[in-house]
Amino acid sequence: MNASQLFLFDTLTQKKRLFKAQLYPKVFIYGCGPTVYDWIHIGNARAFLIQDLLVRYLLFQGYQVHFARNYTDIDDKIIQKAKKTQMSFFQVAQKFIQAFDEDMEKLQTIVPQYRPQVTKNIPAIITMIEQLLQKKLAYLVPTTHGPDIYYQLSQFPLYGKLSKRIQTHTQSRIHSNLLKKNESDFALWKAAQTGEPSWPSPWGIGRPGWHIECSAMIDHLFPHRLDIHMGGCDLIFPHHENEIAQSEGISSQPLAQYWIHNEMVTVQQEKMSKSLGNFWTLRNFLENFTADTLRLLVFQTHYRSPLDFSKENLLKSESFIEKLYHLKMKYPTPPTQLTLESDPVLAALNEDLNTPKAIGLIMKKAQIIPSLWKEFFLLFNQIFGILNQSPLLALQEIKQKRIQRSRLTPHQCEQIEAMIKKRQMLRDEKKFVLADQIRQNLKAQGILIMDTPFGVNWDVQKELWFFPSS
Ligand SMILES: [Zn+2]
Repeated sequence: MNASQLFLFDTLTQKKRLFKAQLYPKVFIYGCGPTVYDWIHIGNARAFLIQDLLVRYLLFQGYQVHFARNYTDIDDKIIQKAKKTQMSFFQVAQKFIQAFDEDMEKLQTIVPQYRPQVTKNIPAIITMIEQLLQKKLAYLVPTTHGPDIYYQLSQFPLYGKLSKRIQTHTQSRIHSNLLKKNESDFALWKAAQTGEPSWPSPWGIGRPGWHIECSAMIDHLFPHRLDIHMGGCDLIFPHHENEIAQSEGISSQPLAQYWIHNEMVTVQQEKMSKSLGNFWTLRNFLENFTADTLRLLVFQTHYRSPLDFSKENLLKSESFIEKLYHLKMKYPTPPTQLTLESDPVLAALNEDLNTPKAIGLIMKKAQIIPSLWKEFFLLFNQIFGILNQSPLLALQEIKQKRIQRSRLTPHQCEQIEAMIKKRQMLRDEKKFVLADQIRQNLKAQGILIMDTPFGVNWDVQKELWFFPSS
């Protein structure tokens, strides 16, 4: 398989373009990371899984991947959370950096080599703002606490080239300085407010705006610029547009060769929101479903299509994973190399990471030649990051999640086990009618009994399913 045949859809040119690494075989990737003020939700998780998919695929193709993902650890939202919870902004950020790392570990994502934090990169941010001021791309606006600094969009004619739109209204997340030259100008530096974290700068104490951090950290880590910049499509405007204005305003070189954006998620066809009661944090989700189930669900939809978390999709994905682990028991040893049979699967991935097509091909081919499962499990492991566990443990975990979803208490589980023992005794005494009655009673409560060659097993009926937050 020729590694140079990967085509990626680039948001900037709106075309699928053949991927070429500038310093082959090195690839430099930057993905916008979380603002660490709360638990991440399943929509965020999708973006991080797509980053993980591309990193894994490039590694699989033999590239040397240099991947950075930042933590936005100073932001209006963090300050608000700190005020609400009586914690310091530093404590809030630390807590949710740790939570994010734990979540990513549970999802089995590859840890980026670089995980820069804004608060540890203030000098690089100040240097970049100074360059923007020198180039007259930024200006100071006095406040009672010292100057704010804004980017002057009228000085950057290419503004809007990524999102194909022109900004006409204010960009600020919270409050805006009324003395700005233009409503659309965005903050690079905010003068210190009482009780808020701040750092010294040549213009007085203050803190950076949101967008400057990514430009400054990319410049610091990858001075030769990026091959690929990634993020959810909600970041195209204004965040990535502003990153371009900052970075390209200074150097006139493209910030990234390819801009990759994933679509959003819906829950039961509705936008996910706390007020609708369909809001899932990743943590909450992973208490109820396995990481494999989530990864498969995400990759069964192309990253540029909206992904719906419906009951049906979730249960399908969970059953699929169960089926695959049962098969893995039959074909435990991975092959040492791939055959030509994998080529169409890799060709599908080369078509702008067409994961649903690749998974479809795997299923079709393995049905005809079951021994191919060995080879395909290798692809699942390395590219999709799924089916990496031992089958027995994984199947046990899926069962545990179903029990969790059905809200069975440990006491109720003990009662079920006792009923199953009683049924076994009745069967041993050849009292089959009474034994079957126990099975029927349990079934009526959604508990299924399976007689297997290894003994009696039980599980919760798949359809017993709840929104974790409900
Ligand atoms: Zn960013």
